[in-house]
Amino acid sequence: MSTLTIKNLHVSIEGKEILKGLNLEIKQGEIHAIMGPNGTGKSTLAYALMGHPAYEVTEGEILFDGQNIISMATDERSRLGLFLAFQYPVSISGVTVANFLRTALNARRRADNPEAKGISILEFRKMLKEKMDLLKMDYAFAGRYLNDGFSGGEKKRAEILQMATLKPKIAVLDETDSGLDIDALRIVSDGVNTLADGDLGVIVITHYQRLLDYIKPQFVHIMFDGRIVESSGPDLALRLEAHGYDWVREKYAEGA
Ligand code: ADP
Ligand code: MG
Repeated sequence: MSTLTIKNLHVSIEGKEILKGLNLEIKQGEIHAIMGPNGTGKSTLAYALMGHPAYEVTEGEILFDGQNIISMATDERSRLGLFLAFQYPVSISGVTVANFLRTALNARRRADNPEAKGISILEFRKMLKEKMDLLKMDYAFAGRYLNDGFSGGEKKRAEILQMATLKPKIAVLDETDSGLDIDALRIVSDGVNTLADGDLGVIVITHYQRLLDYIKPQFVHIMFDGRIVESSGPDLALRLEAHGYDWVREKYAEGA
């Protein structure tokens, strides 16, 4: 079982420090929720984990099974088993969902072994169909251009489908609930729960408690001003639902 350990992580964007010493550890099979007010650096954490070049790590470590991954490129991190479902997925017109996923899968196979043959179309279709059934997605969806004209819910489902296909060890879901109606939320959550039931570790980033009615985390963390300031069990999310973030601001705001 793999472990992701974040130690004293400091991250700057364009010279401005956003993450200010963040600590977190997650193992495969665990579900962690990170909640916090807007602008506290939740997405910054997600991007820094994946190695987005605009996010500069100025201090601290990101360890995957003890190995520091800070100097690794995004595709290397992905091959280790990290995955990020974006808050705002981009569209690629002209590339179908199926083509995109097959290309991603084959790129991974070749990176692992340059001699490897690509997955056959037949084998791929069978695999994709299984994943789409799991996520209760209509197979016709695979023939559409990636995110092109997708509703918010369809974009999020496409992200989860990508996750199911690439089978990461640790996945970060950044505001996967935004733009989802209740039905879509339930389907996406079921998909995540099914995948997490195996050996997937999940970091669910969300502003609202609502998603956590469907994806049940064992650990809930509150992020504020670039740090994790409180960590507890699911009760912490209920406390946020009942009392909002004001008490967090009062307790942890600079100079408070
Ligand atoms: P959250 O996801 O918690 O709402 P973000 O990580 O998106 O927070 O943003 C944290 C802070 O970093 C905000 O003050 C935001 O304005 C700033 N920020 C985020 N992305 C960029 C960027 N690409 N360039 C400059 N500032 C950014
Ligand atoms: Mg965000």
